[in-house]
Amino acid sequence: MRAIFIAVGSELLDRDKMDTNSLYVAGKLHEKGILMDMKMVVGDSMEELTWAIKNACKRTQLVVITGGLGPTEDDLTREATANALRKELIFHEEIVDKIRLVFKKRGYEMPEINTRQAFVIEGAEVLPNYVGSAPGQYIDIDSCKVLLLPGPPREMRPMFDKTLEEKIAPLSNYFHYTRSLQLVEISESLADEMMAELYTKCKSIRTTILASPGIISVHLMGRSRKSLEEAQEPTDQLAEQIKERMKDYLFAEGDISFEAYIVEELKRRGVTVSVAESCTGGGLGSRITSIPGSSEVFLGGVVAYSDQLKKKLLGVREETLEKYGAVSSETAREMADGIRRMTGSDIGVSITGIAGPGGGALGKPVGLVHMHISSEKLNKGRYTIFLGDRDYVRIRSQIFSLNLIREYVMQDA
Ligand code: AMP
Ligand code: MG
Repeated sequence: MRAIFIAVGSELLDRDKMDTNSLYVAGKLHEKGILMDMKMVVGDSMEELTWAIKNACKRTQLVVITGGLGPTEDDLTREATANALRKELIFHEEIVDKIRLVFKKRGYEMPEINTRQAFVIEGAEVLPNYVGSAPGQYIDIDSCKVLLLPGPPREMRPMFDKTLEEKIAPLSNYFHYTRSLQLVEISESLADEMMAELYTKCKSIRTTILASPGIISVHLMGRSRKSLEEAQEPTDQLAEQIKERMKDYLFAEGDISFEAYIVEELKRRGVTVSVAESCTGGGLGSRITSIPGSSEVFLGGVVAYSDQLKKKLLGVREETLEKYGAVSSETAREMADGIRRMTGSDIGVSITGIAGPGGGALGKPVGLVHMHISSEKLNKGRYTIFLGDRDYVRIRSQIFSLNLIREYVMQDA
């Protein structure tokens, strides 16, 4: 089964409001092996909306539409769907009673305008809304199922989940099986170059590569009309081939974040860590402490932005700062050694760099970041020049320094 998603609302075409419903719906459909081929954002216009719905229904087996079910003049989804499917709209008195009750529970009289929400497309099933006033509708025409859902995400989600489980998933005529692999510190283009030869051979497996700064997630989905085994076997085979080829970059399987993986590995080994940060302003510590249970391994950190604090709190020497500067391998090393000494942790990690956009100098360009890991068995510094804006440089520095911790834990893997 394949699907098209339509987000309705002129506000979604402006610069301030993003359609997030499609992301939720795509994720849930994907879990059931239903692929979304297309999504559209359509303003509150009868003509455009009717056109979009009519054409979507011609092309696919499932059309999910969110928004435009409210009570006001610009809520046109009911009428546009009726037009597109050449069906009547029928008034249901009992829906008015239900909406009136929703208002009454909140201590209000129902405005007369809400009676518009009681029009139901001929033959449609009404989907109750337990959170708001707009009911949804499910229309089963021979070749296509059409689902109308309210726009507000908190109303749309429970209604979609229930309809997916009860009505749509049982129609999915595919078995599906997914694997996902997480890679770190490899560029998207290099990852693709290394993997393309493997996955282009397996046309039946849908491969998606999702890149975020420093991290690449590879999702594989096998599908079969016959059996789960037929979906699983080639997917597992491809996953194993990719794992072998990408082993230097692979850190985990499944949907686990890099920081969660690092915290898990540190816990397993009973290794404690502390951090000394400059240009990331506490971002590394924040990332580590976002993981529940990180207190078992994370002792704390110091944000030493000024030279003064680097000296005072971390014991970086005056001569080091004078001779090499704050952004240097020497300073990074003294910061990491300093925080380890101060906290008594097994590992000290430091970051010092130029996040930009200003502050670059000859020999020290914007994006230059020195990082260091200090521990008994591994004491090493790395530097790199990240090409990107301030946010990007700061995020990459955090991932890169977490990767130094990964190198540490892999040494005794
Ligand atoms: P509506 O059902 O068209 O009256 O939409 C009500 C509200 O839901 C809108 O003002 C938006 O804030 C929100 N909304 C509608 N569609 C979406 C969407 N696709 N993604 C996220 N929010 C939405
Ligand atoms: Mg709207």
